[in-house]
Amino acid sequence: MRRPTIPSFPAVRHLLPFSRPASRERRLPAVVVGAMVLGFVGVVTPLGTASQSATAAVAGCPEPAAGAVYRTPSSSIKAVALTIDDGPSGAWTPRILDILKANGVQATFFLIGENVRQNPGLVARTVAEGHQIGNHTDTHPTMTSLSAGQQAQQMDAAQSSIVAAAGVQPCFFRAPGGSFSPTTLALARERGMSLIGWSNDTLDWDAPLSVSPSYQAGIVDRAINPAYKNPIVLLHDGSPGNYRQNTVDSLQRIIDSYRSRGYTFTDPVGRPGHIGDPVGYLDSVSSPAPGQVRVVGWSFDPSAPTEPVAVHVYVNGAGYAGSTGVARPDVRAVFPQASGNQGFDLTSPTAGGLDTVCVYAINIGPGTTNPALGCAKISVD
Ligand SMILES: [Zn+2]
Repeated sequence: MRRPTIPSFPAVRHLLPFSRPASRERRLPAVVVGAMVLGFVGVVTPLGTASQSATAAVAGCPEPAAGAVYRTPSSSIKAVALTIDDGPSGAWTPRILDILKANGVQATFFLIGENVRQNPGLVARTVAEGHQIGNHTDTHPTMTSLSAGQQAQQMDAAQSSIVAAAGVQPCFFRAPGGSFSPTTLALARERGMSLIGWSNDTLDWDAPLSVSPSYQAGIVDRAINPAYKNPIVLLHDGSPGNYRQNTVDSLQRIIDSYRSRGYTFTDPVGRPGHIGDPVGYLDSVSSPAPGQVRVVGWSFDPSAPTEPVAVHVYVNGAGYAGSTGVARPDVRAVFPQASGNQGFDLTSPTAGGLDTVCVYAINIGPGTTNPALGCAKISVD
């Protein structure tokens, strides 16, 4: 039987009924605007006042690493991060996603903004299937050849395209070709992103533009050697050349090799996969009446898209349980695999004054993570 697992969460006080269905005329922009407004817990420091704040917190992201990250964290577990750059590509990304899905393996996709705008549905699918999204600039320039303002523009343009496509803020940035300066690092950190390098370059970006079993053997060898305990592996699903069959054909062997040696597949900062966890978003927090707080959003479990997802609303640390079940055709339009009833619209009692409200989707599978859909502060009468 599947049951909620909520380790280290405060006690949930009582079950709340739905207040009322979300209005039917909601459209995608509501999700996107909500994402833009609520995606940041902190405030992104505008360029020019950077000295006031070194980093910005992004909901669901760890504190940005102080320096560039070339390996997953050193710990007692063997953790490999598969990273896949330069997409999304209509030709190759679906094949990569299919292999990852069949293996239940998480990867991190470093996306180029102009490719995101060509393939927004693939970004939504990538997120829905539990993968991490990284920012890989808007047009893939060499960052060290750009001014600070131009570098910031590259990050921000890609960021807004990713948010528009899938409603998520990336936790990670990777510089094209791995070329970055201290300015690049600072700009990424100001946007809540860790700057990610790699330990194992498979050189798949230099593969022949036709099937080559011998080159594939080289891709696999470079993906697993040197045999680090905590590697970050560099692969590609997009340009240059836009021919990635050799990468596609190598991926299963790379996964099999790491899995057979007991590795856990994580994101670049060592967080285990979220395969099977719910995805979703907190669209709005309001106070419809004195002593009440109302949260509206959506969530679903990609591995069980027709089942309702348990949602817990925490107001000043006290939890209130609810679930999805409200019609959200806007979300269905972006995530076709969702049932259409993945919305929540819950009203909870609360203390007056400035309240902190966080909403979590509760993992109902065997994993133990509870994705934060978002947090907000609200003044209540
Ligand atoms: Zn690249």
